[in-house]
Amino acid sequence: MARIAVGGLMHESNTFATARTDLAAFESGGLETGDGIFQRWGEAHHEVGGFFESAAKNGFEVVPTLMGWATPSGPLTSEAYCELTDRLLHALRDAGPVDAVLLALHGAMVADGEDDADGNLLAKVRNLIGPSRPLIVTLDYHANVSPLMVSESNALIAYRTYPHVDQRARGKTAGDLAWRAATARIRPTQAMSKPPILIHLLAQETTREPMKSLIDGLESLDRSQGFLDASILAGFPYADVAATGPTCIAVTDNNLALASEIAEHLSASLWSHRHQLTASPPIAAEAVALALATDKTPVILVDLGDNIGGGSAADSTVLIHELLKQGATDSIVVLFDPEAVQTCQRAGVGGSVALSAGGKIDRNAPPLKVAGLVEILHDGRYVEELPRHGGIRNNNQGATSVVRLDGANRVVLTSLRHPPFSLGQLTSLGLDPKSARFIVVKAAVAYKAAYAPIAGTIIEVDTPGLTASNPARYTYERIRRPILPLDPEPVVKAVI
Ligand SMILES: [Zn+2]
Repeated sequence: MARIAVGGLMHESNTFATARTDLAAFESGGLETGDGIFQRWGEAHHEVGGFFESAAKNGFEVVPTLMGWATPSGPLTSEAYCELTDRLLHALRDAGPVDAVLLALHGAMVADGEDDADGNLLAKVRNLIGPSRPLIVTLDYHANVSPLMVSESNALIAYRTYPHVDQRARGKTAGDLAWRAATARIRPTQAMSKPPILIHLLAQETTREPMKSLIDGLESLDRSQGFLDASILAGFPYADVAATGPTCIAVTDNNLALASEIAEHLSASLWSHRHQLTASPPIAAEAVALALATDKTPVILVDLGDNIGGGSAADSTVLIHELLKQGATDSIVVLFDPEAVQTCQRAGVGGSVALSAGGKIDRNAPPLKVAGLVEILHDGRYVEELPRHGGIRNNNQGATSVVRLDGANRVVLTSLRHPPFSLGQLTSLGLDPKSARFIVVKAAVAYKAAYAPIAGTIIEVDTPGLTASNPARYTYERIRRPILPLDPEPVVKAVI
């Protein structure tokens, strides 16, 4: 029976954030070894769950090593990166002889002093396992893929959906490839191509054109000459590193020329749609006026500048201030504010509180003056059974409280930064999102797997913050130039 080592280290690092991600962030998010990896991820709609599913189907032995995950935020401290890398390498060494290695990476991890944290991790793993042992890796659709990541692995298999609802399926594909490689049925070989463009987050959605057709086209690629898999990754624009931007990857059975040809073809297709890969959402005042004018509720107001899944602060008050200013009622906003939660806990359910909430990390609007009744106190834990962006089953938003203000407006205060990927964030508290009139979600696209089915209206808002949606708002120093939309098109040519 083939033995395949399984592990991973996943972080999406926003290099514009000043906060740093330390070991405690992974201990809080998830840092499992041995059987703990199956306990945490085995049943989840996550690629690691797909690894186990592939093992059950193909009959290979999973040798669990180390799996680390933390909420997107600023880069890792160099100490955390070194420690986690060392632990993973030790666990791989302790796994004994294996026929292949299967890893789950995000692909947009940055550490202090190490812009290509995923590439360097793979180089260390390759150095440990030698040049001939298959190393198969899954990546998030937002990975910023570097040449090192491609050269140090045999196959990079990325999600093909945003919101990411195919994580388990792509993990299973990667597991199947690893098993076929481990049993010498194939020799996965890959190539990549990177068109010189940054794709607006909203244009990255895979149910919108042109990404929908580009991704759908992957299914119809000719499989007759050894083609095995292909990915189009949108990239993560909130990272100022050389690899930032989209990537097209093709994996073949020992046919590098074919892999290059397919990757370049995909890259040319993406480039040909470059003028559609942008968006111009309204600013807060306009968006809230539009929200108040519709009776198709609930209205989901999408706070693009405070997209928690992209590493933002999670406490921006820009939209709730605007909603209250324009007289909104029956609204729900979630703000990260552990101090405010403690104040609510002291007051108890039914107690009245007067406090300042949010606006403490994100300073684009002042803290919100909250005067109202503590309606709910909760431990913040809930389970999501359905496929949702990120694939997290056992969720934790930390101790949480709900304060009801005048006009039936509700402020949900959490003790952990927690993205709106599941309705469980609200329903576990006893709130009914369907009956609210306005809900602010701090996201870009990922929330849709949960919220689109209940939304009356969706309004995306060009708010300020660490994930402001227009790349032109950022000062980049390390990305490749020239690149669209930062440089004029006659200067930027398709490098494919
Ligand atoms: Zn992603």
